[in-house]
Amino acid sequence: MKKLTKSLILAIFPLFFVCPQAEAMAAPLFGRFCSFAALGISLGYPIYVGAEKLYKINDTVEEIASSSDAITFDAKQKPKAAEIVFEEAENMDIDPKTVVYKENGHHSSVSNGTTNIVKINPKDPAIQSEDQLRLIVRHELAHCKQQHGIKDILFWLFAPVITEGASKLRKTPAMPPTSRILGAFGRLGLLYAGYFALKRFHEEEADRIAVGSDPALALAGYEFFNEYVPSKGALKDLPFMASHPAPEERAKYHLEWANQLAAELDKKIIL
Ligand SMILES: [Zn+2]
Repeated sequence: MKKLTKSLILAIFPLFFVCPQAEAMAAPLFGRFCSFAALGISLGYPIYVGAEKLYKINDTVEEIASSSDAITFDAKQKPKAAEIVFEEAENMDIDPKTVVYKENGHHSSVSNGTTNIVKINPKDPAIQSEDQLRLIVRHELAHCKQQHGIKDILFWLFAPVITEGASKLRKTPAMPPTSRILGAFGRLGLLYAGYFALKRFHEEEADRIAVGSDPALALAGYEFFNEYVPSKGALKDLPFMASHPAPEERAKYHLEWANQLAAELDKKIIL
């Protein structure tokens, strides 16, 4: 069967070179194929990404919540980091019973709206103080509170429809078939750039919520991100394709917040 398909394809292509009628017949088919492919690239693929994330989120949350080293609010003999997680959840008006703590290599979080998973690496060498640990915990809790993960999914489900609609509204002369595909990749690139911009916005929002009104936490953030630059050598990504603001930038705005919050308390930060 495979052999037959192969020989058919091999037989058809030379036909286009020798027979002008065959080429004329194939041109609209090729055009239709390109339009379909373009639609798949700029609309189908991103929506598939969003739908897959939506489909998986509950399973991901449940899987982590039921894993052996996950710690729930009622668990006895909690390690220090878990204690901080439940304590800060309470401080941030998140029901600690909806929070599951898990130790992990990277600090991250995932929430399906009812269960909030906070993954923290308390042994992260970049963490130098309890305030810094507290700030990281609050940052991950802020992602859960603001439902940033769900907003990411909504982005993938709706933004492609908007970009596709906008490109259809623009009255451009009919594009040659291959340009349609290139244009679709262009729109997909725009979507990714938009997605990363949204991610960076979420990160800064989570940073701000994590700091709250405590200048000590803002200062802890400044110190953490100042350390973070040389130790992790971050910012390998292109700035517009980075999911997080550059550590230098995060250090800078944490210091600004520290100064503002200290001023509100009639205090001054001396570094
Ligand atoms: Zn984050």
